[in-house]
Amino acid sequence: MSLIVQKFGGTSVADFDRLQNVAKIVVETKKAGNDVVVVVSAQGDTTDLLEKKAAQINSNPSKREMDVLLSAGEQISMALLAMAIEKLGFPCISLTGWQAGFRTNTNHCCARIEKIASSRLEQELALNKIIIVAGFQGIDKFNNITTLGRGGSDTSAVALAAALHADLCQIYTDVDGIYTADPHLVDNAFKLNEISFDEMLELASLGARVLHNRSIEMAKRYNIKLEVLSSFKKHKGTQLKEKINMERMLIRGVTRDDDTARVDLIGVPLDIDFLHRVFSLLGNNNINIDLMGQANVLSSRNIVSFTVASKQLDLAKKIMQENKAHLQIEEIRVLSSVSKVSIVGAGMQANPVVAAKFFEALASEKIEVHLIATSEIKISVLVDRNKSARAVKSIHEKFFG
Ligand code: ADP
Ligand code: ASP
Ligand code: MG
Repeated sequence: MSLIVQKFGGTSVADFDRLQNVAKIVVETKKAGNDVVVVVSAQGDTTDLLEKKAAQINSNPSKREMDVLLSAGEQISMALLAMAIEKLGFPCISLTGWQAGFRTNTNHCCARIEKIASSRLEQELALNKIIIVAGFQGIDKFNNITTLGRGGSDTSAVALAAALHADLCQIYTDVDGIYTADPHLVDNAFKLNEISFDEMLELASLGARVLHNRSIEMAKRYNIKLEVLSSFKKHKGTQLKEKINMERMLIRGVTRDDDTARVDLIGVPLDIDFLHRVFSLLGNNNINIDLMGQANVLSSRNIVSFTVASKQLDLAKKIMQENKAHLQIEEIRVLSSVSKVSIVGAGMQANPVVAAKFFEALASEKIEVHLIATSEIKISVLVDRNKSARAVKSIHEKFFG
């Protein structure tokens, strides 16, 4: 007998028909002789609607209360799915994150799982029950409800698979696997049979929201057998692995991230002390810097530029404004309508053709780039947001067309 963790995302549990469909998938897995632990997300766009409700009553609510509110969405799904499974005649029980033993740190809205106290789960499994756990949530050491950051139910599922030593973790979603680009954006994107943890981690961090990036880190660390597949079509999905057959593909995927903004510090002393002071200030305020660049243009004024996630822009701007005089910055400018466009693939290592093809695709569409970053397995550029879809399509066509 195997233990399988199955996670169903928001679209997969969006309405009653879909919940019944999920109940059937779960029950079939159980009937095949497996133990099953299910993780559910909030239905459809429930989490977005809850965020909007919060904003209507308070434009700056405390993160603690946001977590109390947002965790409610998953609690609805878990109960409804349990009822659908009960109706099919199978014993089951739904558990919130804290009932299932998810202990996290106190970082509200973006908490990290510290451990899963799995005794309750083991007791219920011993009673031969299907367990349904609310994804995305846990509890901190002060018994406050926490959430894991948007998209975090994937991480709940992988963490459960690790804690329970599951044989397989299946992420059921609205697409039938991981594609060479978002299939909702690029028509001729194609499904990958397999992808390495490292490549998927880059793709997820660079905007491919099909998996929460912490879920991939965790799957890699605990060597979890992980697959992404559709809850609507019985197709073979995509397997994630430590090492894969390169299939002679130069790159594995193209992605974009619209959730980014650029800050330019203009007329600055371009020395290492300045860079040290700027990036220490940002780091001490928990602001993650992504792309960076420095240049000596604009009537010989030095510029240092960096990008941050859109939701951290106001804080980054405020910190720079407060320290403008002391850091000797003449001017601060912000560009909020930009996107990051990236290619990822272990096959690009030591292959000079890749960068040439990448920029050829952008040049053919006359898309200017504002910043560039590279690593062994990725190239990222910053472009105007209204050109990011065109950039992704053109790059995809160049590599996979
Ligand atoms: P869920 O609600 O099931 O967690 P998400 O919306 O978080 O689903 O993730 C699935 C979505 O990820 C797909 O609908 C697709 O539009 C998007 N996506 C982005 N990049 C990719 C990719 N490379 N392959 C597959 N899906 C992708
Ligand atoms: N419901 C949460 C969200 O929409 C968590 C998840 O779906 O993974 O972000
Ligand atoms: Mg998701």
